[in-house]
Parts: sequence; C-alpha cells; structure tokens
Amino acid sequence: MAQVLKVNLPFDLRTSHDNDLFYKTAHEKQIFILPYCNSCDQYFWPGAFICQHCGSTDVEWKEASGHGKIYSHVEGRFPFHKAIKEHLPIAICSVTLDEGPRVFGRLVNYGDIEKVSCDAPVHLVWLQDDEKGCTIMGFELD
Ligand SMILES: [Zn+2]
Repeated sequence: MAQVLKVNLPFDLRTSHDNDLFYKTAHEKQIFILPYCNSCDQYFWPGAFICQHCGSTDVEWKEASGHGKIYSHVEGRFPFHKAIKEHLPIAICSVTLDEGPRVFGRLVNYGDIEKVSCDAPVHLVWLQDDEKGCTIMGFELD
C-alpha cells in the first residue's frame, strides 16, 4: 500500500468523472487501480468503458503497483492563481508506470528539481486533503 501524505491542496485537483471510481478507491482505501482490458491484457489511462488499445468493452479496474519512471517534469515557481502562491514551488511529473500507462501527478520530496532526471524511478504516494475530501496521485523518487 502506498504512503499517504496529508496535504492542503489549493483546489480539488481530481480530473474527469470517468475516473470517479479511481478517486473514490484512492480516497477511501488508498488502493491504486487502473483500467485493464481483459481482451488484450493491457492497462490504460484514463478510465473508459472501451479499451484504448483494442476497442474491447471487456474492461475492469485492477490494482497496479504504483511504480514507474519519470517521463518528464516541470516545476512551477510563479503563482498563476492566488490560491497556489503558498504551495510554491510545485512540481508536476508525468510517469510511465511499470504497467504501461503514462499518468500525471505531483512530484513530492524531490529536493533540487535540476537534479531530478527523466527515467528516474518513482513510486506512488497518495496526497490526501481531508478538508476537501479528495486524494490525488503524487510521486516520490525511489
Ligand atoms: Zn484491449
């Protein structure tokens, strides 16, 4: 099970309603699930009722490892909205999961962003905001 960091998010940063089950499971059980196609045996992201690889509707949500490698990252140092000012700097990363899909999350506990290389191994940490009632993906260097 992934670590849970209690945070104060500037906004409710959950995305598409297609991923409601993902966010509900993350918030209530801290379990990392991804959509999985039983026809072609591949994970995909974001959630959908049709596999993005083969078009099959034989899909389900399945637990995944939360491990992967950074594909890219960016660090925001200037507030684009007043609510985010106290959270800076804030780094966002795209991660290629060991299961295949590429997802976005907040990079945490990374130190100097200039020293974070692409392909660096990372693992999932849940970023849970109890006040807003939401939990989102974060990633931490291995
Ligand atoms: Zn498929």
